[in-house]
Amino acid sequence: MSDYKINTNCVHGGYTAKNGEARNFPIVQSTTFRYATSEAMAKLFDLEASGYFYTRLQNPTNDVTAAKIAALEGGTAAMLTSSGQAASLFSIFNICGAGDHVISSSTIYGGTYNLFAVTMKRMGIDFTFVDPDCTPEELEAAFKPNTKAVFGESIANPALVVFDIEKFAKAAHSHGVPLIVDNTFATPINFRPIEWGADIVIHSTTKYMDGHAMTVGGVIVDSGKFDWTKYPDKYPGLTTPDESYHGIVYTERFGLEGAYITKAVAQLMRDLGAQVAPMNAFLLNMGLETLHLRMPRHCENALALAKFLKGHKNVEWVNYPGLEGDKYYDLAKKLMPNGTCGVITFGVKGGRKAAEKFMAGLKLASIATHVADAKTCVLHPASATHRQMNDEELAAAGVSPDLIRFSVGIEDKDDIIADVKQALESI
Ligand code: PLP
Repeated sequence: MSDYKINTNCVHGGYTAKNGEARNFPIVQSTTFRYATSEAMAKLFDLEASGYFYTRLQNPTNDVTAAKIAALEGGTAAMLTSSGQAASLFSIFNICGAGDHVISSSTIYGGTYNLFAVTMKRMGIDFTFVDPDCTPEELEAAFKPNTKAVFGESIANPALVVFDIEKFAKAAHSHGVPLIVDNTFATPINFRPIEWGADIVIHSTTKYMDGHAMTVGGVIVDSGKFDWTKYPDKYPGLTTPDESYHGIVYTERFGLEGAYITKAVAQLMRDLGAQVAPMNAFLLNMGLETLHLRMPRHCENALALAKFLKGHKNVEWVNYPGLEGDKYYDLAKKLMPNGTCGVITFGVKGGRKAAEKFMAGLKLASIATHVADAKTCVLHPASATHRQMNDEELAAAGVSPDLIRFSVGIEDKDDIIADVKQALESI
């Protein structure tokens, strides 16, 4: 399947119907699977045979969708999770424990920042947040003897910083640790992090992959390239016997291409249970069938809107990495020559009050705590997600009072621009 081009894999990846079978892989809406003998089932529990026994661990619909995403990202194995948050947690917790340290870009999704800085810190994992535009020397200085992973977002939500992946991959690999990249905003249509040095790729599939704001979900993809066996002291969970699984050594049994994901399924899904519902995996699979058609339209519309905003008298500033003159334009052109994403941030003249007035004037764009689906949606963080903060606190959080996050959908760009124009003129 992965010999096909990415557009074909969006449609067919993960599953080929055999004679007389359903062309759409069905929703296997069953918690459990029947076996003729206890011995047959015992082999599954020992990971000696592959097969399904309980949907918390694996389900055929979920696996088919995960296999499609592995093909899209060019990875060797993948697993779905119940949310992007669960994907971020599992991607790190699979190789880190109490006493370990992780380096993360500071411009990441706020929920991920909270997960790392508060919740995972409580689990004993320490994070150092670095400016993604830091010098190689500054990055180097963040490493500690107990550093186990490096993390960043290919295009940061909502800062729209394009991640200098080569710099981070080089530093991570020179310290013998993997680079984990959240590729939610770019999607594999615009950027394939594994080709630029990422070892693990994650997504909130809730966004462009689903594409229709129907299902919350996440995915973790392993490149199969990171050699855990070179650092057995650092990653004993992968390279030494797992007593909770009859002494299996994941790297020995499943090779570099399968060890990381098998461990994440066998241990983390088993114990923490953040599995996706088969119905949601089915809907995600349907969404993926048009990802290659939707992404270029999102980017085309976003660029047209960004250009319009740049020239408007009521607009103070515009951030869009696909827009010439943007701080990240050159890096985006190099890493993502076909486009970046459909999300723009901009500030309206007149601060918080003007921003609120602009929002109220929109007719086509809906006010929603979401980004990256087919319908244009918009959020004014200062009056929504960050409304408890005063202007000074907003500045410290990197959210100016006038900041509007605009997720450009796949409607006709003329209608989107007309809606924004009339709302801007109502300020
Ligand atoms: N990563 C990024 C870049 C996101 O934008 C989000 C959510 O907005 C997440 C992760 C978390 O994903 P979810 O909401 O599916 O848990």
